[in-house]
Amino acid sequence: MKRSKKVPYRFYLSEEEMPKVWYNIRADMKEQPDPMLNPATLQPVTAEDLAPVFCEELVKQELDSTTRYFEIPAEIQEFYKIYRPSPLIRAYNLEKAMDTPAKIYYKFEGNNTSGSHKLNSAIAQVYYAKEQGLTGLTTETGAGQWGTALAEACAYFKLPLTVYMVKCSYEQKPFRRSVMQTFDAEVIPSPSSTTKTGCAILEDDPDTGGSLGCAISEAVEKAVTTPGYRYVLGSVLNQVLLHQSVIGLESKKALESLDEYPDLIIGCAGGGSNLGGLIAPFVQDKLLGKASPRIIAVEPASCPSLTRGRYAYDFCDTGKITPLARMYTLGCQFVPSPNHAGGLRYHGMSPILSKLYHDGYMEAVAVEQTKVFEAAVFFAKHETILPAPESAHAIRTAIDEALKCKESGEAKTILFGLTGTGYFDMTAYDAYLNGTMTDYIPSDEDLEKAFAKLPELSRV
Ligand SMILES: *Cc1c(COP(=O)(O)O)cnc(C)c1O
Repeated sequence: MKRSKKVPYRFYLSEEEMPKVWYNIRADMKEQPDPMLNPATLQPVTAEDLAPVFCEELVKQELDSTTRYFEIPAEIQEFYKIYRPSPLIRAYNLEKAMDTPAKIYYKFEGNNTSGSHKLNSAIAQVYYAKEQGLTGLTTETGAGQWGTALAEACAYFKLPLTVYMVKCSYEQKPFRRSVMQTFDAEVIPSPSSTTKTGCAILEDDPDTGGSLGCAISEAVEKAVTTPGYRYVLGSVLNQVLLHQSVIGLESKKALESLDEYPDLIIGCAGGGSNLGGLIAPFVQDKLLGKASPRIIAVEPASCPSLTRGRYAYDFCDTGKITPLARMYTLGCQFVPSPNHAGGLRYHGMSPILSKLYHDGYMEAVAVEQTKVFEAAVFFAKHETILPAPESAHAIRTAIDEALKCKESGEAKTILFGLTGTGYFDMTAYDAYLNGTMTDYIPSDEDLEKAFAKLPELSRV
């Protein structure tokens, strides 16, 4: 049943229409991503290998490539209702400002107190930890969005949380830290002297600003050495993409209600969770031969894992204590320049997205940060939402594609993911506005140095 002729500015599904299941894209993939390997044996990881690190139920989800739909537990559905469905917004003003025939839609995930899509997976992971009777969780956070979302979820289910926050973000974003502390999280700048990995890294380079890979090592070490604790991760993993499928499922249903289907789907890609979630049900159509939307992953030119990385087995962390994953990677030793889109500074990419990209189901582009902020400011003025720098990567590419439509006269339907708001990123906006922002792009030599340190087996 159609609701109205004219598409409203903001479209919401009803509570009853909200997804009751998550969609596992692997169930429909023709070829599976290569399995994660135990670094000690180089054999595919087993549930027993992962049990000391992750919650049992999440391990099951991680390793399950055949169950197509996972029921969303009732308590998580209830929590989702606090801030979901998220709106699907028709960017009428942006379209008008560009004078493009393209129809632009965006799914806005910044409408909750954590300010990003990360709460979708945080609440699920904390729920399973609580169910298992764990006594606490550890994690890392880069820009702070994941730590914030997880702190909120942990406060809701009353579970203690220790967050290793990349040191340069800890210093640049003190208010992010305060938000996490408001929700009772213990926040430690990484690298720190609370772990062996942290101490080793500090000894090597006492002034390092840290990296996500390093913070991951510390959080994992802390979890496996503290009884009753487990580690949780906010992106990259299969389970996180599974939970984030709620974004795509809602988007697809909303577009169906409006009699629309996207020709083009665009999202920013850090570890790949928001993009993986947004595109999941559309990729299903692609895999089943029902439709063939173009899909574009957008990454920063300063951390170009898909566009310039290697498709190889690599560690998920700098300290080399995690399993090996086959993914597009810049090498776990790669330390990206202090780009302002902290959430996109990860050296690797979700193995699922890496495989889809490798097999030609998805394209990727890398964009420079000054162009990203130009798009962010333009978007903010017309749509009145101040986007997160990460999200603005998708905006940049959506604008570029809409401008191409203007040239060609094609009225394409574009859907992009607006993952969050940028109110804690005003230092970055300041740098852009006063002209001090620079575009750092790693040279081939920089990349080769990190590739040279890839694990042996990825070089065969
Ligand atoms: C973390 C984050 C991202 C990137 O993470 P993905 O796992 O690639 O989705 C993008 N946007 C925002 C606002 C974020 O917080």
